[in-house]
Amino acid sequence: MDNFTYDRAGSVEDAARAGAGGAAIAAGTTELINWMRLGIAAPEAVVDISGLDLRGIARDGDVLLVGALATLNEVGTSDLVRADAPVLAQAALKAASAQLRNRATLGGNVLQRTRCPYFRVEAANEARVPWPCNKRVAGTGCAALDQPFSRAAILGWTQDCVATQPSDPVVALAALDAVAEVQGPDGAREIAMTEFHLSQEEGGLDEETRLAPGEVILGYRIPVDAASRGSAYLKVRERESYEYAMVSAAVCLDHADGAIRSARVALGSVAQKPWRLSRAEAALEGAALDEATVQAAMDAAMEEARPLPGQEWKPRLAANAAARAVMMAGGAI
Ligand SMILES: Cc1cc2nc3c(=O)[nH]c(=O)nc-3n(C[C@H](O)[C@H](O)[C@H](O)COP(=O)(O)OP(=O)(O)OC[C@H]3O[C@@H](n4cnc5c(N)ncnc54)[C@H](O)[C@@H]3O)c2cc1C
Ligand code: SF4
Repeated sequence: MDNFTYDRAGSVEDAARAGAGGAAIAAGTTELINWMRLGIAAPEAVVDISGLDLRGIARDGDVLLVGALATLNEVGTSDLVRADAPVLAQAALKAASAQLRNRATLGGNVLQRTRCPYFRVEAANEARVPWPCNKRVAGTGCAALDQPFSRAAILGWTQDCVATQPSDPVVALAALDAVAEVQGPDGAREIAMTEFHLSQEEGGLDEETRLAPGEVILGYRIPVDAASRGSAYLKVRERESYEYAMVSAAVCLDHADGAIRSARVALGSVAQKPWRLSRAEAALEGAALDEATVQAAMDAAMEEARPLPGQEWKPRLAANAAARAVMMAGGAI
């Protein structure tokens, strides 16, 4: 790890100014320090925002406000989040380990990098990266195309990179139609969480999110409605604890008398962004809340998936997870 300077931000403006000047913004540091250890990042300056007042969770009319510095355990155990957006509470508590969740913030969580094993290798410098990875050393190629891993993308990828965004909470935030409030050196703005992350098709190799240098996430605005209150998260992983998702599904469902009024469905670990299934959402509006109908909508939605050779099982797993999450949200299982 290289030397770096360390400062505590006294205000969001301080942090935005330092970030725009090249400093790395640090919150819980559970991700940032790993990047520095692995050689993925080597900032000359770090600005610590953990002392800022961005931790609250509150209701403002029909909107739930969650501060960027709220930890995953605070989000997951908050009575407000559990009542108004259970999908977010469930996703937060299914992330990482209890110890990490006490430190990991929701702001930092959405900015974590891919868990592609070829990317996460420890290498002191570019010359020591042992296999092709365009994200570590531009122009070297992508080892995952020939040796795919179970968390590789099936949507939105390019020949340059098939990495996925591994966060659980981003999937919930996308299904909830949440909006990130951000403030940069040039002022404040909002970014819809369905637009926050970019697939490789949208952002190429360099752009993974729409956040500009120096922009600080202040928190998230989550519209509260019947669908957000009737929401659920399903995470499929190789072991039941302390493991990233192979596929996950977040569903916000409004239903009555066995019929679906509206459904919002997002998949995780299938792309470099949470993937909203808008075609399935349209098909489910007004449809019966029964397993066959819901499964058919998800199977049709997955026809656009492009799995790598050897990964043909993944669209089926994603469709099944999405269908099951709808039935969970509907209280049918
Ligand atoms: C072993 C392990 C297992 C994990 N398993 C899971 C899992 O199963 N599911 C899951 O979802 N996550 C998982 N995580 C990821 C974990 O949740 C994130 O590391 C954590 O949430 C990041 O938050 P942080 O506050 O520590 O971020 P930091 O490490 O402080 O920062 C991460 C990035 O976000 C930026 N940043 C942080 N806060 C802000 C802000 N407010 N505004 C602008 N930029 C900001 C930083 O500059 C940095 O680029 C795991 C992590 C580890 C180490
Ligand atoms: S998928 Fe992306 S991160 Fe993984 S090896 Fe290929 S280029 Fe690197």
